[in-house]
Amino acid sequence: MQKENLYGKTLNELIKVTKQIGLPGFAAKQLSEWLYKKEIQSIDEMTNLSKKTRELLFAGYEIGLSDPVNESVSSDGTKKYLFNVLNDKYIETAYIPDDDRATICVSSQAGCKMGCIFCMTGKQGFQGNLSSNEILNQFRSIPEFSKLTNIVFMGMGEPLDNITEVLKSLDILTNEWGYAWSPTRITVSTVGIISGIKEFLEKSRCNLAVSLHSPFDEERRKLMPVQRINTVKEVLDIIRNFNFNSQRKVSFEYILFKGINDTPAHIKELTRILNGIKCRINIIRFHQVPGSEFQSPNLETTIKFKEALNSKGILTTIRTSRGVDIQAACGLLSTLEQNKSIQK
Ligand code: SF4
Repeated sequence: MQKENLYGKTLNELIKVTKQIGLPGFAAKQLSEWLYKKEIQSIDEMTNLSKKTRELLFAGYEIGLSDPVNESVSSDGTKKYLFNVLNDKYIETAYIPDDDRATICVSSQAGCKMGCIFCMTGKQGFQGNLSSNEILNQFRSIPEFSKLTNIVFMGMGEPLDNITEVLKSLDILTNEWGYAWSPTRITVSTVGIISGIKEFLEKSRCNLAVSLHSPFDEERRKLMPVQRINTVKEVLDIIRNFNFNSQRKVSFEYILFKGINDTPAHIKELTRILNGIKCRINIIRFHQVPGSEFQSPNLETTIKFKEALNSKGILTTIRTSRGVDIQAACGLLSTLEQNKSIQK
């Protein structure tokens, strides 16, 4: 019989586990302490539980942590980890140190359904949703775990297309009985799935990042097929009408493609559609990937684009490209690993 993972369960789920094996309710709190506050690797280490209780747990459960199967290190300190999930699939996790910040970028799905044409993960197609265990294992099982200051859900997959497991992970990350992280240190990104954004805004307190990439419907539709059913206008209306507290932030990711979305017309339209929304735009220079029809803009164009938006009153920053020498663009490493497994 396959054992169930304890790591990745919420407090309510742990209460169910304790009930099932006949333990009092408070034992669930003890379990969450061991799982999320102490760095245990096995049920045997839960020393304030009796031997009998540990045996009962051991019969049906395991902790469920797994190390990365591969890693690459960039000359700028960025690391890319490869994890094996869903038996035979691969996902990527990036560790990005930067002055006093240490950010982990986690994946929420193996592959992705969204089909953004500039993305290697999109080209893999959808292979499955990660469980909260598999999402949080990326955070817990990298060697830099204890240094982490920020988490972004911007790796492989569309987080809001796997909202149940993503919300469970956020629950564990931010609750007192879990890791007790401040939600302001966590950002979840989306291509703009309306139902998911509504649920995410209502059920979590974490920051939201929307991948925008173009303010024009037709152009965005070509880049991101999701635009056909979830338009930017609908997304912006939800954001405009939601009562954000002063701590919670909204940002828009904007990958700049040479000669495509870097013109004065784009600046004008971005200024118009974002009017009245307190936000930031993060510009990301496109990472050239093998076989892609897109090109990276030069630094001068990127800086001019940023400055023009700033001058219109939209706080805009350029996200430094990190880990370029280790193929840090999302989906590249796992695609290579997947191809290797197929060739074996
Ligand atoms: S950019 Fe994100 S949402 Fe789009 S295909 Fe890639 S992983 Fe999926």
